[in-house]
Amino acid sequence: MSKRDYYEVLGVEKNATKEEIKKAYRKLSKKYHPDINKAPDAAEKFKEVKEAYEALSDDQKRAHYDQFGHTDPNSQGFGGGFGGADFGGGFGFEDIFNSFFGGGGRRNDPNAPRQGADLQYTMTLDFEEAVFGKETEITIPREEECDTCHGTGAKPGTKPDTCPHCHGTGQMNTEQNTPFGKIVNRRVCHYCGGTGKIIKDKCRTCGGSGKVKKRRKIAVKIPAGVDDGQQLRVAGQGEPGINGGPAGDLYVVFHIRRHELFERDGDDIYCEIPITFPQAALGDEIEVPTLHGKVKLKIPAGTQSGTKFRLRGKGVPNVHGYGTGDQHVIANVITPTKLTEKQKQLLREFAEVSGAAPDAQHRSFIDKMKKAFKGD
Ligand SMILES: [Zn+2]
Ligand SMILES: [Zn+2]
Repeated sequence: MSKRDYYEVLGVEKNATKEEIKKAYRKLSKKYHPDINKAPDAAEKFKEVKEAYEALSDDQKRAHYDQFGHTDPNSQGFGGGFGGADFGGGFGFEDIFNSFFGGGGRRNDPNAPRQGADLQYTMTLDFEEAVFGKETEITIPREEECDTCHGTGAKPGTKPDTCPHCHGTGQMNTEQNTPFGKIVNRRVCHYCGGTGKIIKDKCRTCGGSGKVKKRRKIAVKIPAGVDDGQQLRVAGQGEPGINGGPAGDLYVVFHIRRHELFERDGDDIYCEIPITFPQAALGDEIEVPTLHGKVKLKIPAGTQSGTKFRLRGKGVPNVHGYGTGDQHVIANVITPTKLTEKQKQLLREFAEVSGAAPDAQHRSFIDKMKKAFKGD
């Protein structure tokens, strides 16, 4: 009952090129085409070839098949009946029945190589570390193959037996007759937990799981310009593969601390600089901090509060290497507080010379208000 390997069906190697797969398919589909081949099993063979080709000619489906074999993890829980995704799509009953088997557990082979789980690690960086990048080492706990039993879970010198209840498939079938025909429900074999194997003498180191938790140091090169929430994929540093499958990947997710002076928006930096009223009115040259050191900035006479100045190329290097952002400096004109008598006197004089007596604006406002509410 077990389903044949797609590569075997097409008679190609596991690393066959797309061209080789296409060629094999053309040859076999001609050979088994029901119009040409009148052998009783030709239609079945033709279908098998077509299915194998459909899976292996599509890069995504092929990668998935290489990784999971005939199992489709998206179809877990199929045993309860027909999957919603396959139902209601205008299929004839036979098609539904076929897709049930297609997506279901019949192809499941617990001994097929599977990729290990991906791991995620959150790393907190200082503002500048994110801007300039750094090389660092992280220690992550992850499951690794047990050295004692080399991942089999069996005591050294012994071997796991094929589960006699499911004959190594890891699954059990129960048949049920319905008005539509026979429905086969598939469940994980509870004798072996779906592994297809029974271990009589368990490895003492790992307790039969074949895996042990280890802390492992991994060198990580953080590229300059990473931003909050971005993640870095370190290929092959996840958990080990199952049955000789490839290891999973490690994803490092960055969290970036705030800076006292700088705000970041993408590759641009924003920085507010306080300037005095005389500086704003008369103009000045000031020193501005940037991530790349101090820079001189000319404040023109008559600068209003909130005016933005741009320092080109003083922002964050783009994480993908597309240049460097800018720094935007926002002038914030500060109103003086705690004035001395002399300062007050000078400001009054300033106001008078400017042609505005201290209370003129206020008086004008009161006049306008009286006019507006005359009717009340
Ligand atoms: Zn072990
Ligand atoms: Zn079993």
